[in-house]
Amino acid sequence: MNTSQNSVPRLLIIGAGFAGLKAAAEAAKYNLAITVVDRRNHHTFQPLLYQVATAGLSPGEIAAPIRGVLRKYSNVEVLLGEVDSFDLEQKKVGLRDGSDLLYDYLIVASGATHSYFGHNEWEELARGLKTVEDATEIRRRVLLAFELAERQAHISGHAEPVHFVVVGGGPTGVELAGTLAEVASKALARNFRHIDPRTTRILLLEGGPRILPAYPPDLSRSAQEQLERLGVQVRTSAQVTGVEPGQVRVGEEILPASVTLWAAGVRASSLGRKLGVEVDRAGRVIVSPDLSVPGHPEVFVVGDLANLKDPKTGNLLPGLAPVAMQEGHHAAWNIGRDLKSKRREPFHYIDKGTMATIGRAAAIAQIGKLHVSGFIAWIMWLFVHIMYLVGFRNRILVMLEWAWSYLTYQRSARLITGSTYLPGWNAQQHEHESEELSVEQERARARLA
Ligand SMILES: Cc1cc2nc3c(=O)[nH]c(=O)nc-3n(C[C@H](O)[C@H](O)[C@H](O)COP(=O)(O)OP(=O)(O)OC[C@H]3O[C@@H](n4cnc5c(N)ncnc54)[C@H](O)[C@@H]3O)c2cc1C
Repeated sequence: MNTSQNSVPRLLIIGAGFAGLKAAAEAAKYNLAITVVDRRNHHTFQPLLYQVATAGLSPGEIAAPIRGVLRKYSNVEVLLGEVDSFDLEQKKVGLRDGSDLLYDYLIVASGATHSYFGHNEWEELARGLKTVEDATEIRRRVLLAFELAERQAHISGHAEPVHFVVVGGGPTGVELAGTLAEVASKALARNFRHIDPRTTRILLLEGGPRILPAYPPDLSRSAQEQLERLGVQVRTSAQVTGVEPGQVRVGEEILPASVTLWAAGVRASSLGRKLGVEVDRAGRVIVSPDLSVPGHPEVFVVGDLANLKDPKTGNLLPGLAPVAMQEGHHAAWNIGRDLKSKRREPFHYIDKGTMATIGRAAAIAQIGKLHVSGFIAWIMWLFVHIMYLVGFRNRILVMLEWAWSYLTYQRSARLITGSTYLPGWNAQQHEHESEELSVEQERARARLA
């Protein structure tokens, strides 16, 4: 990549998420030498991360090795590496290990991450859901909360309910809260002898006046009713003012939280600001209608990292997988037009509808003017998610897992991996912990400090 041995233009794609993979697949049709660089060796199907977090699916069923996904394109190579800097004048990208990659065309598709609204100290206690590592950590905490409650009840003879607090009533918060309710009331119901998981309290906190604010009000209402039927307590206009060990504050009110999950804020990948071009408040790069960066027609930014308004509605295009896929495809297609000396075309998003799941047989969907909720919306959601899942093997495995789980209420990936320390589990319980656990707590405290 660093030496141009022939005259084939070099395309560097940063990120093998939804946008990067689509860009690579389209670009592979042209006479380009393409390199896809990602800091992970796998593509993650983020819409199903909540299933890993709630022990329904295993990480390998929702992730696919990038090398394997792109193997059929002979002009595409894959590199594992974390991009750290840009030199747009020299057409050079710097990796964290100090090496450089040169390009003729660049597509930046590094996505988004969590935002704690200036309270990064909350992150250790309230984990967000973005990567496979986040999902397995959430799974660890959720399952551990039940185990610790059982042990406490075994020792003391007194059973306290487990409390989950989910912060943020967007699609991720809603699916996490709904599925946790299902796990507690069904999958774990008869697995413990001293506690009754059906007494678990699940609280969904939303700062705005309604959950799922990106959906029409009737679907928000329906989603809230479906959640409440599953046993989730929904509180709207509830701004979180503090996340502390074992509790969450809303104003002056203190709410118990055995485990707190963060689904409230998103900010763009830090690479947006590192490009040295104009970004919005969330760090998204403001792109031209053809998805290139103003002043640098050879550099494109796509997916969650791009800020582009829909010319029809004037609204910012949402951070959704279909937007990212269509943008990735379009940027590569425009490069293809450059190579054929044709004029570039502006990007137009084709909205095929949006949907959110709430739990077993519960979902909402909006397709144009059509609003659907309940079982039919859930079937539509299942179909779309299996269809778009990367990898044929994964599609078959997920279909089997869901069929099994639907029939038996069981969740097959109930594994606690890593430490048995739960942030915020109260001091009395810790008295009985082993030395190893104290070390773990000290490490976590040091990370928080
Ligand atoms: C929990 C969750 C649920 C979601 N559910 C839905 C849903 O149901 N429907 C829907 O349409 N959308 C959903 N989304 C949103 C959707 O996943 C995103 O819009 C989409 O992933 C954006 O694609 P992208 O390619 O821009 O970024 P991503 O898919 O996030 O990919 C970014 C890639 O860049 C890599 N990367 C980042 N930084 C660097 C770096 N410095 N160097 C090298 N590589 C880097 C990452 O490893 C990653 O592979 C969900 C998102 C989340 C987090």
